[in-house]
Amino acid sequence: MTSKKSSEIIDELFGSGPPEDGSAPYSSGPARESNPRPELASRRTTRRRRRMITRSPLIEMPVLPLRETVIYPHMVTPLFVGRDASLRAVEQALDTDRSLIVVAQRDQDIDDVEAQHLYTVGCEVTIGRVLKMPEGSTSILVQGQRRLQIVEYSEGGSYITARALPIVEVEAEGGLESEALIRVVLELFERVAKLSRNVSDDAYVAALNVDEPGPLADLVASTIQIDNAARQQILEEFDPLTRLQKVHIMLAKELDLLDMESKIQGDVQKEIDHSQREYYLREQMKAIQHELGEEDPLTRDIREFRAKIAAAGMSEEVLARATEEIDRLAAMPSISPEASVLRGYIEWLVALPWSVATEDRLDIRAAAATLERNHYGLEKVKERILEFLAVRKLAGAKQKSPILCFVGPPGVGKTSLGRSIAEAMGRKFARLSLGGVRDEAEIRGHRRTYIGALPGRILQTMKTVGVCNPVFIMDEIDKLGMDYRGDPAAALLEVLDPEQNNAFSDHYLEVPFDLSRVLFILTANVLDPVPSALRDRMEVIELPGYTEEEKFHIARQFLVSKQLEQNGLDAAEMTFGDRALHEIIRSYTHEAGVRNLEREVGAICRKVARSVAEAGEDEAAESKPRRKANPNRYHITEKTLEKYLGPSRFSYGIAEKRDEVGVATGVSWSAAGGDTMGIEVTLMDGSGKLTLTGQLGEVMRESAQAGISYARSWARQFGIDPARFEKLDIHIHVPAGAIPKDGPSAGITMATALISALTQRPVRREVAMTGEITLRGKVLPIGGLKEKVLAAHRAGITTFILPKENEKDLLEIPSNIRKQLRFVPVEQMSEVIGAALRQE
Ligand code: ADP
Repeated sequence: MTSKKSSEIIDELFGSGPPEDGSAPYSSGPARESNPRPELASRRTTRRRRRMITRSPLIEMPVLPLRETVIYPHMVTPLFVGRDASLRAVEQALDTDRSLIVVAQRDQDIDDVEAQHLYTVGCEVTIGRVLKMPEGSTSILVQGQRRLQIVEYSEGGSYITARALPIVEVEAEGGLESEALIRVVLELFERVAKLSRNVSDDAYVAALNVDEPGPLADLVASTIQIDNAARQQILEEFDPLTRLQKVHIMLAKELDLLDMESKIQGDVQKEIDHSQREYYLREQMKAIQHELGEEDPLTRDIREFRAKIAAAGMSEEVLARATEEIDRLAAMPSISPEASVLRGYIEWLVALPWSVATEDRLDIRAAAATLERNHYGLEKVKERILEFLAVRKLAGAKQKSPILCFVGPPGVGKTSLGRSIAEAMGRKFARLSLGGVRDEAEIRGHRRTYIGALPGRILQTMKTVGVCNPVFIMDEIDKLGMDYRGDPAAALLEVLDPEQNNAFSDHYLEVPFDLSRVLFILTANVLDPVPSALRDRMEVIELPGYTEEEKFHIARQFLVSKQLEQNGLDAAEMTFGDRALHEIIRSYTHEAGVRNLEREVGAICRKVARSVAEAGEDEAAESKPRRKANPNRYHITEKTLEKYLGPSRFSYGIAEKRDEVGVATGVSWSAAGGDTMGIEVTLMDGSGKLTLTGQLGEVMRESAQAGISYARSWARQFGIDPARFEKLDIHIHVPAGAIPKDGPSAGITMATALISALTQRPVRREVAMTGEITLRGKVLPIGGLKEKVLAAHRAGITTFILPKENEKDLLEIPSNIRKQLRFVPVEQMSEVIGAALRQE
């Protein structure tokens, strides 16, 4: 049921007054006085309406709801009827006079249509041809007859029926307004027909033949692209002129849209034309190059890439990827930025050594000879390297050997040992320093999406070395950093892990790279900062540093000749005296290794090279025959050193001149080697305060405290009155004051100096000592014994007190030095006192 009463609808249509043509109003109800007087304009519309709607009888017919369309009078349209109620409505119509009311649904999605879902203006149609479709639906051809104002729906039966009032459109009065409007509409419609694919020229021709505003509006509205609600609005507009005005506005909007569309289309077309033109020209260029027997650069590159990947021996996965990327590159315009990124990537792919390898030569005897030839001393280290190579030889590459790690101060030959291993095995040598690497991406590369991305340093080094099985030294793993950009150590673990490194993933490369044939060797100055996960995989070989004697031999046998050669000097012309070399080692360098020693020798060679060159020029100018090499011409002696290197730079601890009270000689160790130091203790009247100076670290301070506590608790044994401690201030100073020191190994030295000061017994000047002290006076072992003994020896010490547990380390000390010293291994502080203090 419609919500309005039928009488109200009729009232609205006819107005409340009597119709102009004198016919009685359809409504039987009384005129409604309460209606406000309509405005002038609307009065005119009302008048027109009256003219248009003549009194005609109400009709009652079955209703066919329309889902997606609106039908206007005069339109001929096929309709598909599928819903049961609709089929019955159609059958009913076919049984009677083939007439039917079609009304659009307000909402297309509703299936079970009720009256409330339908608009209240529809169209009466006559059914023409009927076609039964195979799946049960029916197609009917309908022709619109006249507009209907539905007065009442009734839904009782198996389909909806409606009572409706036919709107009879009388011919509108001509008039300028109507004529002008028709003209404008036709003009717009013509343009729309031209631009739109949905409006055919036939529709425009048909429109030309309609000279009434109402039917013209219907025709145009049925052809242009507007939504159903807009179509219904046109159907509901009974006044022909107003209807045509509405259609005019819709047409103008449609035309705007079409204009816009065609502009966009045009732009797109232009773009397509441009690239087509470029493509065409390029093809032409190719054809011309082909005719001339030339090849275009891209095709040539691609051909070369293909040849290279075919030869590279890639795995199937990598090969597939490389081929795919090359295909992609071939299909790209060569000037696009993407193509240059892709080309860079492919260049990396083809440049990496996927399967190029050198052949291993694992002859242990030859390896031993190589090591002997290149390195002085280092007997234990050489032995372990040879054992390592022997195991590799026997077990083959399959065995998961641990990774060698050389640990030691700078310049002791870690890198050069790696180089010798490569030489001995007949492999190529690659080196990468990890010092200061904090970002995982440095190891593993950046993803290709970053501008300027590159593979990580591992693969960069692999590309440089050009084979897949080099000896690969990674220096300074103890200097590896870690921060918010990821943990490079984790990436490194993957590199070194034999379980994983056959498919090392680099962010840039994206395909796995096999590192399993690489022989990795790590180096570090100290082991402590190395992440423990890494440490677990390593076989650590320590290189402790050289004695002065060893340095001398290294210089004599290796460094001098190497530097002479590098500076283009003749060994017959320039020589170094033994004492000169010793003096360089003592006074111009301060190190555990020989790097600075080599540098100083090099510096002298450069200066001599300059003199030689200048002398050569003088002789040439005087056209004298070149003199024969004179072995003494450039002989470097202890005395001439200062001329070349300037004044000496280092002095080292030397033993005290006489026995002193309150001063004991300790020995320290650093990465640069060992040194002696005289620890001083002064006592002053006071209140038991302790002062420690000389930049001592926490551990060293605690060890001083332990020494004092020991002395206090054992005071009587040394003939000291324990009560004295309360009236004394103790000051301990460890020179040199500007150098920070730490560690527990000066414990017994501080205690000795203190007891000497308290008992006034002098400390023997020829004694040096090292060892940690406990509260009960036990002496615990320390590290770096070799360097400490060497430093003591150099300082002129003859008695060396050391913890008993360190006695075994004495074997490391060259026997000629060992012979010159008396070693006193101790377990108790009392033994130290016995050996170090002079008997009063
Ligand atoms: P590290 O890697 O430990 O810092 P290097 O391998 O760079 O040390 O060595 C520095 C220099 O000292 C090299 O020229 C090396 O040949 C030389 N060198 C070090 N130890 C020896 C040695 N035992 N025999 C011969 N030359 C040595």
